[in-house]
Amino acid sequence: MRDFKSYSEEIRCNKDIPRLEDFSYKGKLISKERKNIGTEKIIDLASELVNKKIRELGIKTRKFDKKRITFLIPVDPSRYESEIDYILMREDAQAAFGEIQHEIIHYLASEWHINDHNYIENKKKQKMKVKGGFHNIAFSLDEAITEKINRDIISENIEAIKSLIEEIKIYFDGIYEERLLKFQSDFELKKISASKKIDKYRKEYESTLKKFLIEENQIKVEDQKLFENLNVEENLKNVFIKEKEESFERRKNMARELYQSLKDMEMRDICPEKKKILLDMLKKDYSFNDIFERSVYDYQISILDLLLDGVAYSLSSNQEEFKKNKEKVWEKLQKDYFNTNNWGLRIFDRVFGKGTLRELQKLSILDPKHNIDFIKTIEETVKKIKEKNLSSKK
Ligand SMILES: [Zn+2]
Repeated sequence: MRDFKSYSEEIRCNKDIPRLEDFSYKGKLISKERKNIGTEKIIDLASELVNKKIRELGIKTRKFDKKRITFLIPVDPSRYESEIDYILMREDAQAAFGEIQHEIIHYLASEWHINDHNYIENKKKQKMKVKGGFHNIAFSLDEAITEKINRDIISENIEAIKSLIEEIKIYFDGIYEERLLKFQSDFELKKISASKKIDKYRKEYESTLKKFLIEENQIKVEDQKLFENLNVEENLKNVFIKEKEESFERRKNMARELYQSLKDMEMRDICPEKKKILLDMLKKDYSFNDIFERSVYDYQISILDLLLDGVAYSLSSNQEEFKKNKEKVWEKLQKDYFNTNNWGLRIFDRVFGKGTLRELQKLSILDPKHNIDFIKTIEETVKKIKEKNLSSKK
């Protein structure tokens, strides 16, 4: 039996690998993993509820194979790997209903579960990636849609979920304290290895910055010489200086980005705040607050909501119509998501202008500040569409 590590290396090298049927991790077969009974019940209800949603959208139900979700391999954050068709969950997320259901939505939206075996084989022969939702075309938007569906399902079925929680609480008794101890020691270990990596990265950043500054000074000296010796027209000289300034600005931005990734890395791996976040997450999961206070992808969802507003206003002449149309547009988008119909996303290009989808693809997930200009444009466009459609047709 293949070991998980060799598989993940093959995936990274983009080799044409077959769908993973089973694999071993630390000598354990994934198919033989014994999950907590409470976790099994969460998986059952979550997959049932996602399928109910799929049915409501007029799509045929899809089978969820419980073997294809594992809590054995330590990953952070949890994710669905469409290449191997496996959900790899954060080790401590066994009681996290919201997180488990989020990943099941990714899974059931993947082409593995929409098309037949031959279709997938053909695709792999052509070295094409197996699609899951809109993941390959717009990562941030895909996550926003996944999480919005997740929250819809939770609020529509809150009573069923609450009664499940009452039933399964007993299976997680004492686990929180046990996890807490393990988490503390894991975190300390991770911190040590991350500090080494960050030191190396910081040196790299400093030397890059130094190089830029030296180059910049050389260029300045050369420019001065050039202008002293040449009798150039004033406006030509200005264009030349402007170009130089722009290229310096670009390089400064490169250095800034490098610095930003360094900061992100510190935040992600060693920062005490991060430890607090992880601890809170652990506590939330085992007290089941993960379901009621989900904040993951809030920012992406707010962008998605703006986009839906824009499309809905473009189809409406009054507030009532707008409400109905927003629901309709959202329903259509979910259908396209579960059918991996990328064409459905074209609606955003049609309403917000060509190139919008490309911008959406580039949306930064790490730092919302990077997207301020884009969001402003979207907000203004929504406002314009609303004013145009809602006032003129009275
Ligand atoms: Zn996700």
